[in-house]
Amino acid sequence: MSSAVTIWKAALGELELQVSRPNFQTWFKDTTALAYDGETFLVGTPNNFVTEYLEKNQRSLIEKTLIGLTRHSVRVRFQIAWETGDGEVTPRPENDTAALYGFNPHYTFDNFVVGPGNRLAHAAALGVAQHAAKATYNPLFLYAGPGLGKTHLLHAIGQEAVRQGQRPVHTSGEQFTQEFVEAIREQRADDFRARYRSADILMIDDVHAISGKEQTQECFFNTFNDLHNAGRQIVITSDRPPKEMSRVEERLQSRFEWGLMADIQPPDYETRRAILLARAEDAHTELTPDVLEMLASEARRNIRELEGNLNRILAYASLLRAEVTTDLAHKAMKDIAPQSTPLLPAPELALRLVAENFATTVDDLLGHRRDKVTAQARHVAMYLLKQRGGLSLAEIGQSLGGRGASTVSHAYEKVSRDIEASPVFCRRVEDIRQKLDAK
Ligand code: ADP
Ligand code: MG
Repeated sequence: MSSAVTIWKAALGELELQVSRPNFQTWFKDTTALAYDGETFLVGTPNNFVTEYLEKNQRSLIEKTLIGLTRHSVRVRFQIAWETGDGEVTPRPENDTAALYGFNPHYTFDNFVVGPGNRLAHAAALGVAQHAAKATYNPLFLYAGPGLGKTHLLHAIGQEAVRQGQRPVHTSGEQFTQEFVEAIREQRADDFRARYRSADILMIDDVHAISGKEQTQECFFNTFNDLHNAGRQIVITSDRPPKEMSRVEERLQSRFEWGLMADIQPPDYETRRAILLARAEDAHTELTPDVLEMLASEARRNIRELEGNLNRILAYASLLRAEVTTDLAHKAMKDIAPQSTPLLPAPELALRLVAENFATTVDDLLGHRRDKVTAQARHVAMYLLKQRGGLSLAEIGQSLGGRGASTVSHAYEKVSRDIEASPVFCRRVEDIRQKLDAK
C-alpha cells in the first residue's frame, strides 16, 4: 500500500469523527488517495459535484487533519478518479464527457450481463436511454436489493443519454437531501431548484434515502412534477417498491408508480457464471471450470460480492505469482477475508433439522397437513431459509412443496412476531439455527 493510501485511510478515520454521518457518507466516503509527494496531497473524488463541495467547504478541515497526521504542511488538491477493477485508483482521462456527469465509465450497457432476473429492468433501461427525449415510460422506477445492478443500469442510461445529446442531472436520495438542506440554510433554494429543473433527464439513485424527510420530499415532489409536466425523463432506483416505502408520502409513492416499475432479482447460476467470465476476461485471466463453478455457486444474492470474491482470488494469485487453481481459490477465500455469505446449505438440511425438532417428518412439511405443529414447523423452515438468504421467496416456497412467495413472506412475518412474543419459541428457533450453521 502506498503511503498516500495509508495516510488517507487514517485521515478518513479522523474526518468521520469530526463531521456528521450524512455529511461523511455523502462527501467523504467515496474519496480516495491518488498521490502524495510530501507537499501536495491529491484526493480522488467520484464526481465534479463532490470536488466542488469539498474544495469550497472542507478544504481547511482536510488540510488540518492531514497536517496532524504527517506533521508537514500539506496542500490538498481534488481530482475526479475511478477505481479500476483491480482496486487501483486512476485519475480519470480529461476528455471523458460522461465524467462531467459523475458516471462510472465501466457501468455501461455493454458491460451489463442480461439474465432472467434483470431482463425486464435492462430492456426498460435501454428503452428509456434510447428514447430519453420522448420520455415514454415516465418515471422508470428500478428496485432491487443491494449489489444487483441498480446503479450500474442508472449510469448506463446516463451515458447512453449523453451520447444522444441529452443532459442528465444525476444525484442520489442522500445527496439530494443534503443539498436541499444546505440550499435552505444558505438561502440558495432558487439555485438548487434551477439546477434540477434544467435536467433533460433526472436520475436519482437510492431514492429511499428521502424516507421520513418531509421537507425534502415536498421539494422532490415539486421537482418531479415540473419535470414530468415538461416531458422530461425521470429515472429512479430504490431498494424496495414504492408501496413499501412507508415513510414516503403517498402522493410521491403514487407518482413513482406512474410509469414503469421493474425489479431486479438475484442472478441465477448461469448469469453469475457469465458475469464471472466477463470479469475474468476484463482482467485478462482465464478461470478453470472448477474455479468458475466454485465461485458461481456462492454469492448468490449479490453481484458486488460475486465480483469481490473473484477480485480477492485474482489478487491472491498475483501476490503469490501462482496459477488460479481451486486450491488457491479456497485458500484465498479463507485467508484473506471471511466470506460474507457462507456456503448455503441445501434447503433439505434445514427441512430435516426443523422436522427433527418438531417431531414431524420432511414429507409432512412438504405435504398438506394443516395441524398446528406441522404448520408451525413449516413456517419456521421458511423463516430460517429466508434468513439464511441466497434463495428468493419463490425458491423457498418451491422447496417447501410448491408454495407461493406470499405464503413464505407471511410465514416469515408470523415467525418474527412469535419470536418477539415468546422467549421459549425464540430459543427453539435459535437451536435449529445453530445446528444449521454448524453444518
Ligand atoms: P446496486 O446499485 O444495486 O447496489 P451496483 O449497480 O452497484 O448495485 O452493482 C454492483 C456491482 O455488480 C457493480 O460492480 C456492477 O457493475 C456489477 N453488476 C451488477 N449487475 C450486473 C450485471 N447484470 N452484469 C455485470 N455486472 C453487474
Ligand atoms: Mg447502488
